[in-house]
Amino acid sequence: MALVLVVEDELEIAEVLEGYLRRAGHRTERAADGHAAVALYRAARPDLVLLDINLPGIDGLEVLRLIRADGATPVICLTARSEEIDTVVGLELGADDYVTKPFSPREVMARVKAVLRRGEGERSDERVVRVGALEVDPARLSADLAGRPIPLTVTEFRLLHRLAAHPGRVFGRDELLEVALPDSDALERVIDTHLKNLRRKLGEAGGAGLIETVRGAGYRLRAP
Ligand code: CA
Repeated sequence: MALVLVVEDELEIAEVLEGYLRRAGHRTERAADGHAAVALYRAARPDLVLLDINLPGIDGLEVLRLIRADGATPVICLTARSEEIDTVVGLELGADDYVTKPFSPREVMARVKAVLRRGEGERSDERVVRVGALEVDPARLSADLAGRPIPLTVTEFRLLHRLAAHPGRVFGRDELLEVALPDSDALERVIDTHLKNLRRKLGEAGGAGLIETVRGAGYRLRAP
């Protein structure tokens, strides 16, 4: 079972979420503002963070940025507006999933289960995948290119792992969505955002052009 950090300034929502998480066998920590969230994250090293975006003190996006600067701990954002979705999964930030308020606790729990299962699923098949200079290691949820580590979120890792396991094969966005965010109602365009981030990171590590877009069909990892 996992340690889940619940970051939410609305006490009632936080208590309901903690209740559901504990009944599912998880341990919880709670923070009601951004500063407390960062401090608790650093002290408790949670397995998963449920992160409200609109927080007093430093806001959720800044908290997400600080968590991401530290590592690939899965983060599910609780967003109040659908316009925030592109922001929380986009660019530098890279949340693993999101739920739009108002949400049902069951919906949140389904996401928690999916994100935690993803981590386990990758670890159960621990064979390292190598494509040219790219190395993808499911045991460590890490990837590197010619020895240079590529800092990836769990979602980005999952996408890269699937693409790299079948170099040259074209994957549709619907297939990749199922890989990256199973049981999620995320829109297919979310995959484009995750892939954009993944490509940027690969590019920064010297692997620009490794992932190719096949117009009208999807994406593939360039075969060496
Ligand atoms: Ca709030």
